[in-house]
Amino acid sequence: MERTQNKKILITGGTRGIGKACVEEFLLNNNEVIYTGTAQKKSGENFMVADFSTLDGINEFCSKVRKLNIDILINNAGINFPKPFLKEDTEDILKSYYVNLLAPVLLVKTVLPSMIKNNWGKIINIGSILGASGKKDRASYSMTKSGLEAFTRSIAIEYSKYGINSLCVAPGYIDTDLTRRNLNESERKLIEGSIPIGRFGTPLELAKIIYSFTHDSFNYLSGNTITIDGGISILI
Ligand code: NDP
Repeated sequence: MERTQNKKILITGGTRGIGKACVEEFLLNNNEVIYTGTAQKKSGENFMVADFSTLDGINEFCSKVRKLNIDILINNAGINFPKPFLKEDTEDILKSYYVNLLAPVLLVKTVLPSMIKNNWGKIINIGSILGASGKKDRASYSMTKSGLEAFTRSIAIEYSKYGINSLCVAPGYIDTDLTRRNLNESERKLIEGSIPIGRFGTPLELAKIIYSFTHDSFNYLSGNTITIDGGISILI
């Protein structure tokens, strides 16, 4: 199987869940991986603190990334705090927007110039099945994930010709802190019953697919959203 090796990869939100599994998968394959989390860690040159919940936090991080010459960007960090829309205040909506959409957008703007210079780059934005469908209490989350899909299409149109493949990966239900916090046991059972594969996905399953999309054997793929959801979104 073709491998992605000796690349410099930036993975946002790499401390837990899907992002952490991606960090491990890329490291396993001899890549240089830089990953982020919101809290300072004790060691590790490849870890960077990043808090995308404010514009200052995003800009500060982008200014550090500018000189890194990133080959592969995985925009994974994301938040989802379910609330009825009328209970979401402007702060909540802005926070979703900053973390889930504005940070990925500004990071892409930051890494594109060196990718263009290298005539090679891979950008994977982690969306959600809620980018194309809806769920109660997820108005701002859904809005940001839908925006990320539209953004992925737009950059693919402009920059694919420079050897840069942009993709949006839209997971369904994956077993992470995020889903464990947002769904109680009976909600989880109900959802599992309607997933054709019959269970939530694992972060490792996602990471292996995300990793493979960075192989050059996938070079004819750009701008699309790839849904990875055990089949739940094929149901009416
Ligand atoms: P987790 O909650 O397990 O991990 C989230 C990651 O994002 C952590 O590394 C966290 O860092 C980081 N993060 C949280 N808040 C911020 C912030 N303000 N600024 C910067 N980074 C932050 O999430 P998942 O692994 O479940 O989700 C990863 C991505 O996949 C998200 O974009 C999510 O929307 C998407 N997704 C997940 C699905 C699922 O079923 N799990 C389904 C569909 C999409 P720290 O550890 O410091 O808090």
